Amino acid sequence: MSSEGKPWFQTAVFYEVAVHSFFDSNADGTGDIAGLTSKLDYLEWLGVTALWLLPILPSPMKDGGYDVSDLTGVRSEFGTLDDVRTLLEQAHARGIAVVTDFVVNHTSDQHPWFIEARDPDSPRHDWYVWSDDNTRFSDARVIFVDTHDSNWSWDDVARQYYWHRFFDHQPDLNYTNPQVRDAVLDAIRFWLDLGFDGLRLDAVPYLFEEEGTNCENLPATHEYLKEIRSMIDREYPGAVLLAEANQLPEDLLPYFGDGDECHMAFHFPVMPSLFLALATGDATGISATLEATPHIPAGTQWAMFVRNHDELTLEMVTDTERDVLYAAYAPDPQMRKNIGIRRRLAPLLGGDRRKLDMLNAVLLSLPGTPVIYYGDEIGMGDDIALPDRDGVRTPMQWDSSSTGGWSGADPDHFYLPVITDEVYGTRSVNVEDQISDESSPLHALRSMIGHRPQAFGTTPFETIETGDQAVLAYTRGRYSVVANFSPDQRTVAVESVEKITGPGVADGTTVVLPPFGWAWLITRG
Ligand code: BGC
Repeated sequence: MSSEGKPWFQTAVFYEVAVHSFFDSNADGTGDIAGLTSKLDYLEWLGVTALWLLPILPSPMKDGGYDVSDLTGVRSEFGTLDDVRTLLEQAHARGIAVVTDFVVNHTSDQHPWFIEARDPDSPRHDWYVWSDDNTRFSDARVIFVDTHDSNWSWDDVARQYYWHRFFDHQPDLNYTNPQVRDAVLDAIRFWLDLGFDGLRLDAVPYLFEEEGTNCENLPATHEYLKEIRSMIDREYPGAVLLAEANQLPEDLLPYFGDGDECHMAFHFPVMPSLFLALATGDATGISATLEATPHIPAGTQWAMFVRNHDELTLEMVTDTERDVLYAAYAPDPQMRKNIGIRRRLAPLLGGDRRKLDMLNAVLLSLPGTPVIYYGDEIGMGDDIALPDRDGVRTPMQWDSSSTGGWSGADPDHFYLPVITDEVYGTRSVNVEDQISDESSPLHALRSMIGHRPQAFGTTPFETIETGDQAVLAYTRGRYSVVANFSPDQRTVAVESVEKITGPGVADGTTVVLPPFGWAWLITRG
């Protein structure tokens, strides 16, 4: 429980971290759990109260660890289970909760389950989804359109096709098989027994398939999620399930059930609306998206984000909006991936500090729990020359040295190269310099987190009509938020207020917002 008597995840500030890129404690060129533990002081100083770790399970790492070869272990390059226990102990000692990614939908084709399953006579065969032809479930869309044109791939050993919603090295588990459902429940127990505070359930809409449907959000999927939840309520009360479902709000709502399914779900549609508003100077789409967001059951929560480890997904926007977003943010086709944009926050904003602070201020005040992506607090850049989404997952830049101080290994052995360009390279963008510069983006974000009322996590959202489409304005209980999405100064009429924080200047019943300025306000009395 938080100091407001709300469940901790409703008032938390999350920080998403790629363990392999954060800090390498043993100089082997890959970040590790002990490295993350050694940076907990920094995260506590920043003010985050929860971590979400990208997958730490054993993996051939063909999909950033989302290709899992053992559901109950830690990837050896990342450390040991004892390292995980130490991380959890030390995070908890600082009041930081830790949620870890758990891949439910599929495994790697290197998972012993799949290796066995390829033998059609093996009892394991039915743990995956097989077919003699590749025409079943033809209404299901392909998600990784840059790599695949079918959700079926041929297996020479089984002499059958197997089903995969993502890469062909990630066969989908067959959830109609009760043994699979039980094995996954046991794997969840394994992680919660270790002491994690919750799990991010990866790619959760696709667990079941059914002919004649798009094979997403099916009733059977919700039934199984409710089974997971009831096990958690019985055996691990307080642990949190965070659903990753890239869907429209009306399809997301069922992931909360009646408060008996997932505790949290990412709010996917609000994120592109923020970038669209910046590109067009019209912020009305943000309020419209939030107003169209259905009410969620008590005890549940949206997870809000502006960027994450994936491409900035444009799956849930209209064709016209997608064209505008591609033109504004991904003029070079190399910046695009699948249906989205593989760039980090700062470069997306053209390195404009005012926009960076404003989007962070909006993120922290949206109705939900904000999730900050590692490196975005210092305005790290990306490397579009790297394949897939690796360009937004490069090593954390701790200091101005050429290695960014993240690893003592020979740079030739770095898991991913450090960004070195003039604008976003380690010399210009790093934690050490920004800690000693009180005017840095890092200090700005830290100060926002420090000033953020816990009520931003839970109070209702209501749009304030300003008559100015460039201004996003809303109340959150007794607080108001105003943000200027235009490059011109704006004056907004508000109720009698005092300012909590932000570059906007409050005077009686008006707030003057500089270009891309913002303010958090509190109504007097
Ligand atoms: C993860 C991606 C991953 C995909 C397939 C997604 O939801 O966020 O990074 O590639 O699942 O596992």
